[in-house]
Amino acid sequence: MRSVKPGRGPSAMGAFGSAVGVIFGVIWTGAAASMGAPPFFLAFGVLFIIVGIVQALYNYKNATGENRFSAFDITEDGEEPDPLDRRVREEPLPEGAYRFCPYCGAKFSGDFVYCGKCGKRLPDLEQEG
Ligand SMILES: [Zn+2]
Repeated sequence: MRSVKPGRGPSAMGAFGSAVGVIFGVIWTGAAASMGAPPFFLAFGVLFIIVGIVQALYNYKNATGENRFSAFDITEDGEEPDPLDRRVREEPLPEGAYRFCPYCGAKFSGDFVYCGKCGKRLPDLEQEG
């Protein structure tokens, strides 16, 4: 399976943004604790100025740089496995989880006694394993 991943540049920017969010939260909490401290408004402005400068530099480098950050990375199977893919596949749908109604052909999963489409009684599930 090939995976299309966000490039390391955008990922780094996301991590940086998250870190800024944490810092912002800490500042916000500190400001709230001291209730209406004027320096907070100053710090708020300075923080957003810093973030703005970093993002401007990042975008400028991507717009003009010779060796730009990739917006997306396409990886081959096994080259860089997708961690989420592994997690999702930890509990694969077992074989035979899907059944088909022998009367109308409706596909369904689970332990139904009657077909949800035609309403006829379904044959009992075969015992496997
Ligand atoms: Zn049916």
